[in-house]
Amino acid sequence: MAQVTESGILEALKVVKDPDSGQDVVAAGMVSGLVIKDGNVAFALEVDPQRGPHLEPLRKEAEKTVHALDGVLSVSVVLTAEAQAQTPPPHQGHPGGQAVGRGNGQGMIPSLPGIKHVIAVASGKGGVGKSTVSANLALALAAEGLRVGMMDADIYGPSQPRMLGIHGQPQTKDGQTLEPMENYGIKVMSMGLLIPEDTPMIWRGPMVMSAIQQLLRDVNWGELDVLVVDMPPGTGDAQLTMAQQVPLAGAVIVSTPQDIALLDARKGLNMFRKVEVPVLGIIENMSYFSCPNCGHRTEVFSHGGANKEAERLGVDFLGEIPLDIEIRETSDGGHPIVVSKPDSDHAKVFRDIGARIWAKLEATSAKSMPKIVVQ
Ligand code: ADP
Repeated sequence: MAQVTESGILEALKVVKDPDSGQDVVAAGMVSGLVIKDGNVAFALEVDPQRGPHLEPLRKEAEKTVHALDGVLSVSVVLTAEAQAQTPPPHQGHPGGQAVGRGNGQGMIPSLPGIKHVIAVASGKGGVGKSTVSANLALALAAEGLRVGMMDADIYGPSQPRMLGIHGQPQTKDGQTLEPMENYGIKVMSMGLLIPEDTPMIWRGPMVMSAIQQLLRDVNWGELDVLVVDMPPGTGDAQLTMAQQVPLAGAVIVSTPQDIALLDARKGLNMFRKVEVPVLGIIENMSYFSCPNCGHRTEVFSHGGANKEAERLGVDFLGEIPLDIEIRETSDGGHPIVVSKPDSDHAKVFRDIGARIWAKLEATSAKSMPKIVVQ
């Protein structure tokens, strides 16, 4: 099969003309964030926010043009508003002072018909165990008999393929959508499966969205009860854009006791509140140390902080997970504790948290259902 190259794609795109200026999209500098992986292509067309609505034919034309190239298996093109990607300035943390809402960007993914609930698992910073908790939580939900998907949106350090023991590469049946990979009964898709783990990538705003859209819209998720999204750590622009543009039913914040004290978890909370995504609650990870030999429990940090803080902030406390070598070894080794030791206390904690989250999701969607009036 022919090798798909960046220059080949840009050459082909020269026939795609911006209807307003008559200039081709490459010369006009509209193409950005081009990602090529084994014949799967994604890029963004940067457009003026006001012009977005009538440029759908341009987006489609660009997609069709690249798709016609030899060796191209799938193409995902998104329209990205430059102004949106640059506000606020990239060096500043978000949330800032200005009001932001959901669905005001060009790239909002309207709805995902087969997926009942999409939940984000987020953290104020990296290394708090967000991915470990996401993996175990997804498996805990599956243990409830639910149909579960895991979308690894942690594009800076995708770890779900490793944690969920996924090997190989996703395939496409129709050349348009990718089939998710599967293990332990859950469907998984990750940038880590599309881009080799050691490829250095600098993600800019539009690229992040094009990657996320590809993971969400161009994957054949089928029917799911819950899609768990392992978010990139932190609360910068990429996270904010994602929270705005992915139709989230709710968010779960993972934090460690010290992280709560340092306000990082609060930043995450505020970010979701600003974009009106319900926060389902906080999970305290590495809450206390449980001795692998004697089972003795040691409060390493000021344990219990998350519970108190959650109460103060008016969000639910979903549970606490100990710092335990078994949790680390099992998830890092591709056999998370919920599936490798389902009868352990730790697995039970994750299942309890999963059940609590599921109940909340069901309660929220029941509330938003139209009421039937019997006369
Ligand atoms: P994040 O996604 O927040 O960056 P990870 O889930 O990758 O964090 O976790 C970072 C490291 O900490 C991993 O090696 C993981 O196995 C370990 N870890 C996470 N949670 C626990 C825990 N409760 N007990 C022991 N190790 C943990």
